[in-house]
Amino acid sequence: MPSKNANAPKAAPAAVDAKTVDRKDVKTTEPLNPKTTHYEFAGPIGALGVTLLTPAFTYLLYFACNETSCSSSFLSLASLQSQWPGWAGLLDPEAIRAYLKWWQLLLVLWVFIPGPWVEGTELRDGTRAQYKMNGFRTFVGVIAMQVGVLLWYGPRHAVFTFVWEHYLGLITAACLFSFALAIHVYASSYIPAKNGGSKLLALGGNSGNVIYDFFIGRELNPTLNLPFLPDQPFDIKQFAELRPGIILWVALNIAFAAHQFVEFGRVTDSIVLVCVFQGWYCLDSLWNEEAVLTTMDITTDAFGFMLSFGDLVWVPFTYSLQARYLASHPIDLGLWKSAAIVAVQLTGYYIFRSANTQKNTFRNTPTHPSVSHLTYLQTSYGTRLITSGWWGTARHINYLGDWIMAWAWCLPTGFATPITYFYVGYFAVLLVHRERRDEEKCGRKYGKDWEEYKRRVRWRIVPYVY
Ligand code: NDP
Repeated sequence: MPSKNANAPKAAPAAVDAKTVDRKDVKTTEPLNPKTTHYEFAGPIGALGVTLLTPAFTYLLYFACNETSCSSSFLSLASLQSQWPGWAGLLDPEAIRAYLKWWQLLLVLWVFIPGPWVEGTELRDGTRAQYKMNGFRTFVGVIAMQVGVLLWYGPRHAVFTFVWEHYLGLITAACLFSFALAIHVYASSYIPAKNGGSKLLALGGNSGNVIYDFFIGRELNPTLNLPFLPDQPFDIKQFAELRPGIILWVALNIAFAAHQFVEFGRVTDSIVLVCVFQGWYCLDSLWNEEAVLTTMDITTDAFGFMLSFGDLVWVPFTYSLQARYLASHPIDLGLWKSAAIVAVQLTGYYIFRSANTQKNTFRNTPTHPSVSHLTYLQTSYGTRLITSGWWGTARHINYLGDWIMAWAWCLPTGFATPITYFYVGYFAVLLVHRERRDEEKCGRKYGKDWEEYKRRVRWRIVPYVY
């Protein structure tokens, strides 16, 4: 169980180049950073494709759906040409300055807002990284400031109008920042650790192919040691996962609701639902901040372009599409439609949250009354796989809950355009792909035990369907 304490973290044990793995059944000396021999994302070509296409798609989504129009004819060249501002038009110095200030604010809050230091899961080299858990307080602080400005100065304040007027420039600023960050972590992964040994790399990011490793990420836990806080390691990946993108997403949504009020003199129930649902989702992930430490992103994936772009650009600028659409295309749902959409959201949330909590509680406190009755498969690796409760219904039942919620976020936009439903489609692809990656990881890790687990829990995501 991760230990909590309010003091500065313990110094991480020195990195080594080989580790004697000592589990119940295995005692072997393995290289610390074995070469990656298996590619995901169709290898370097796929990695290059995703690296180029995801920023292009983010812009495309903006040009396809904005206050001028939002129609599925977005693939028509003429419609794009009429809106294309030229390459120079994508760059907006004011937006770049604002985006840098955003990071500055978050970094200052990371330093000054107190929070417990928590240990992550055990790493391959036997160490555990240390993480400062003040994301929830940061979220509350930032959103309280924004709501304070809204209540005090009103929706015409520059904090809100700036977002609408410089949205394209903000996308570019975040893209440039995410590329710069990915280049930085890639380059610094080659700098030896403090003790002269190798840094711990992700098993999947050490292929030697520059494009692929840049995309997937090499170093598992890229860390900055701030000169004025030498004993407080700043973990770039954990910081990026839940703050610059997730908090910005909520802040953008609020700015869009303010824009709707300025334009139409009212705030519709549809945009309120979208803001509340998505704000709740973000609040929930920050409230359960420690749970991120057991996710694939933290335990398995390195921090490369995939996570840098995903966290900094994709999440805030594409997930906020529904609120941005409603800001200029107001929709009144009325009581019954609203109630039906709330029911969809609650169903999804219930599955998502109770499944994730069940697994975290079982892994951290197996004797807890809420999970002590669950049956499990004891793996020879040492960990236990739950075979009843939520995790007995499907191997990734939590993904189903997440996907049901995705519908509740899109339904308030009505049916005038399919574009606002892009999230439902994209998210289905993401979850199916993620489930396959996780299966592969667990298959490698647990071997025969995983086969037995699959025999006992047959379905992947949707019971009796898939
Ligand atoms: P999970 O939280 O589902 O964790 C998978 C891991 O859990 C496995 O690798 C394995 O790890 C362990 N595990 C698997 N089966 C069992 C079992 N039966 N009993 C105990 N442990 C088990 O994966 P994610 O990190 O992908 O997702 C976390 C949440 O984040 C999900 O709810 C997902 O929907 C959400 N998410 C949201 C995204 C978004 O953009 N909105 C993007 C990605 C995820 P081990 O090696 O420890 O055994």
